[in-house]
Amino acid sequence: MDRRSFLKLGGGLVLLAACRDSFSSKEKIKQAKFVIHIDSNSAIGHKVRIAIELPVTRSIETETLVVGAGIAGLAAACSLNSNKFVLCELDPTLGGTSGAININGDLYSQGAHYDLAYPSNYGKEGLFLLEKLEIIHFNEKSKLWEFVDKQYLISSDKEEACYYNGSIRESVLPNTELKQNFIALLKTYDNQLPLPSTLFQKELHQLDRLTFYDYLNKYLPINHEFIEAIDYQMLDDFGGTSTQISALAGIHYYKCRPYYESKELELFSPPQGNYYFIQKMAAQLDPANIQKNHLVFGLQQKGKKWHADVLDTQNMIRKEYISDNVIYAGQKHALKYIHKDSYAAFNDVSYAPWVVINIELDNAILENSKWQNDFLSPDGTFLGFVDSKVQDKTKNRVLTAYYCFPSIHHYVVKNFESSAEDLVHETIANISLYYKKDIGSYIKQVFIKLLGHAMPIPQPGYLTRERTLVKDKLAFAGVDTGRLPLMFDALDSGIQAAKAINNLSSIII
Ligand SMILES: Cc1cc2nc3c(=O)[nH]c(=O)nc-3n(C[C@H](O)[C@H](O)[C@H](O)COP(=O)(O)OP(=O)(O)OC[C@H]3O[C@@H](n4cnc5c(N)ncnc54)[C@H](O)[C@@H]3O)c2cc1C
Repeated sequence: MDRRSFLKLGGGLVLLAACRDSFSSKEKIKQAKFVIHIDSNSAIGHKVRIAIELPVTRSIETETLVVGAGIAGLAAACSLNSNKFVLCELDPTLGGTSGAININGDLYSQGAHYDLAYPSNYGKEGLFLLEKLEIIHFNEKSKLWEFVDKQYLISSDKEEACYYNGSIRESVLPNTELKQNFIALLKTYDNQLPLPSTLFQKELHQLDRLTFYDYLNKYLPINHEFIEAIDYQMLDDFGGTSTQISALAGIHYYKCRPYYESKELELFSPPQGNYYFIQKMAAQLDPANIQKNHLVFGLQQKGKKWHADVLDTQNMIRKEYISDNVIYAGQKHALKYIHKDSYAAFNDVSYAPWVVINIELDNAILENSKWQNDFLSPDGTFLGFVDSKVQDKTKNRVLTAYYCFPSIHHYVVKNFESSAEDLVHETIANISLYYKKDIGSYIKQVFIKLLGHAMPIPQPGYLTRERTLVKDKLAFAGVDTGRLPLMFDALDSGIQAAKAINNLSSIII
């Protein structure tokens, strides 16, 4: 009860006492003092209520308004034919769920942290954009699109280890006969499940009508240990367990790349994670076209023009943007308030809330640490952590821990704003268990990112539902447009929205 730490939210500094004092029943965490910084944008709702009462101080005309600077919004901006656009991002930084945090001058991922080499049957437009950004090039020998920046590849011996029931094993899925039967069962889907997910053949759409669990239960003698490992992997990539996600999404996870062939696949993970892709896209754009701290809180069509209500959240100034076209790449659940008529196309989307915790350590020697340190925890929400030292030896050691909460528990994430201490100490306890070493005394500071509506869960029906994504020069992009929550799908959704606006035509997917 005597350990103390500081909680810092929106500039305020509060001294709190910790209530956990051990990382297991046997070992004690040493007394530690550190600051906890919390980043959450839940105060936005309050700001909007103020904004509605404010007079419009500026009216700005542009050709296209892009809402949201995640992977999708930036891909859209990079793919527009004209540079007469404004990109509004509500956060002070770009990236959304592919964001990063600056700790002592270096960037560390606060969300998506990796991608893998792309097979040649992936969508041409996404590959073309990544090649244009000088991120990938085609390797004639491996027949894969591989990464240009080799320094950020993770070597296979450093890739991952998994904590399970007090010991460490090589991989999440236990190496059993059941695993071999599982791989054999999925063999029929070789080369059939590329990205973007819009390329899936119609014959596979029936797999979107049942859960992954029902599919596995039908064909394999599944057991608790196997499903526990599958559920971990599904939560990690899709925010839901095998009983929540469709068989189409589940099978895709194992078949989107040739994982079980002899080929070695490049695993690309810079310390800033997928913010690397954000940086590359932002570098293509004129900074004058990007407005950070700009929240779009209303959209209305008046004649042939779109009128957007925008709040400059830093200066608390209300503006109006008038445009011919809009690309909306923000999360769709907010359409209920921003443009009610469009919400119906996305009313089936259920989001998993995530919490990302960056822990800066001082001089801790952590033996056998891997890039990704998976953790199969009894409550299932703590998914493990990434070690920045494996990504880049020259940087400080930052462990980035991930939590995925059930979709109905959005309030849990909001509650962490005032009571994150227990979560931080639980995380330290779990990491200490992993290393069999108390890391508490090495902690310098902790950064928490609360992501309320972080990941659309690909539930049965989600991937194959018909949605109108372009209407009246309003186009939708983002992973929550019926896509898988993956970088390549986000990228493609942005490209397609821009293409539709470029062509000024309607598409129905
Ligand atoms: C914790 C976590 C880890 C992940 N790891 C990986 C990974 O390793 N690899 C991978 O491929 N994928 C990963 N993903 C999936 C990831 O979500 C996608 O890869 C991709 O980043 C999604 O991009 P997006 O543009 O569709 O959405 P978002 O990233 O959600 O971007 C939406 C943007 O719009 C802004 N916005 C929303 N509303 C408004 C508004 N009204 N006005 C202005 N701006 C607005 C938001 O602030 C945000 O910046 C991860 C996701 C999470 C949550």
